Amino acid sequence: MKVTTANENFFQLTHLGFVNCYLLREDDGFTLIDAADSGQAQPIIQAAKNLGLPIARILLTHAHVDHVGSLDALHAALPAVPVGIGARDARFLAGDRSLDPSEPQVPLRGGYTPCTTKPTLLLHEGDRVGSLEVIATPGHTPGHIAFLDTRNRALIVGDAFQTLGGVAVSGAFKPLFPLVMFATWHKETALESARKLLALKPSSLSVGHGRTLNNPQDVMARAIRELEQTLAKKK
Ligand SMILES: [Zn+2]
Repeated sequence: MKVTTANENFFQLTHLGFVNCYLLREDDGFTLIDAADSGQAQPIIQAAKNLGLPIARILLTHAHVDHVGSLDALHAALPAVPVGIGARDARFLAGDRSLDPSEPQVPLRGGYTPCTTKPTLLLHEGDRVGSLEVIATPGHTPGHIAFLDTRNRALIVGDAFQTLGGVAVSGAFKPLFPLVMFATWHKETALESARKLLALKPSSLSVGHGRTLNNPQDVMARAIRELEQTLAKKK
């Protein structure tokens, strides 16, 4: 895995050039955000070791396979480490693919692989885990969440945005990296979540696919406008 330093407390791990997860330094060790695709447990654990801290907890932005692929192997290697995911996407992790009556009744997209790991933290909007605040950002998946580092307003958004192949809101078509769009459940909901993320005035934007952007507000606003225009044309 390629390790990129976003700042002294924050490291991006990239597999195959396009699957990201993150190590965020806290007082008690690293918070691992997302669990990559399969086969990456040992490289992730080794990366944390090389950076000098143990993994203290695992948080997941959503239940797609390229974000939870190494979860079971990580949990097997680190059984005492708490695992957190949004309460809604926890159902996908357990293999329940049903939609709630209150949700848009459109088919789920993207790969969901059930995991045997039972999350110990079921997260909701406003919850705090270490320095991170949980932001509910449904759309890419019904229970997608993002994390705001309250120390410096760094924002880790999973697939709510992408920066690979161009900066885009989840659901916008980027021909050089269309994977995020093809895996997006409900674009209008994703657009609302993107507006909510921009309103947090983030200092940086870290995504599941693509590099971290500093001072991202202008490009986020542009990406939001782009998807707004695309969806308006379809009406
Ligand atoms: Zn995804």
